[in-house]
Amino acid sequence: MNLSKYFMSAAILVAQNSKDPNTQVGAAAVSEEDRRIYGTGYNCPPFGIPDSAVPAQKPQKYYYTIHAEINAILAAMASAPLNNPILYCTLFPCHECYKLAIQAGIKKIIYFAEVAGETWKGESRETTLKLQELSKVPIIQFTDADDAVYDLLQHLRGIHYNTYRSIR
Ligand SMILES: [Zn+2]
Repeated sequence: MNLSKYFMSAAILVAQNSKDPNTQVGAAAVSEEDRRIYGTGYNCPPFGIPDSAVPAQKPQKYYYTIHAEINAILAAMASAPLNNPILYCTLFPCHECYKLAIQAGIKKIIYFAEVAGETWKGESRETTLKLQELSKVPIIQFTDADDAVYDLLQHLRGIHYNTYRSIR
């Protein structure tokens, strides 16, 4: 398996841990030079708070949820120093995660699928793109997907992942 597929597969696998009823998101902060995964994360409430204790419906659930990307970055920073860290994400990053990624020294973001939920499609996505122009930290869509990667995606909740299989 090539390195890029390995890292994206790790992000997809860890997303399966998410209990989110609508969208399971995963991320992995990695070093390509060292062929190493620094940290992974999925969308969930903070440690010690059970998923069953927080609202499952939008928009209330957003106030309780930490995004996969932030969890992956926090896990990676615990294993610092980071060597040119790259963040692999199953979804296009929201503006909050992208800001944090820049601040954490992430050098590049590779995402699999576009966001589908209305909350993240409009102003959030535009802000991420504007921040990309300003910061020059590239956000690049993953292009190495093969049957093995699509098979992993099939297990994730989030209809937008599976639409990719039919249009490729
Ligand atoms: Zn986010």
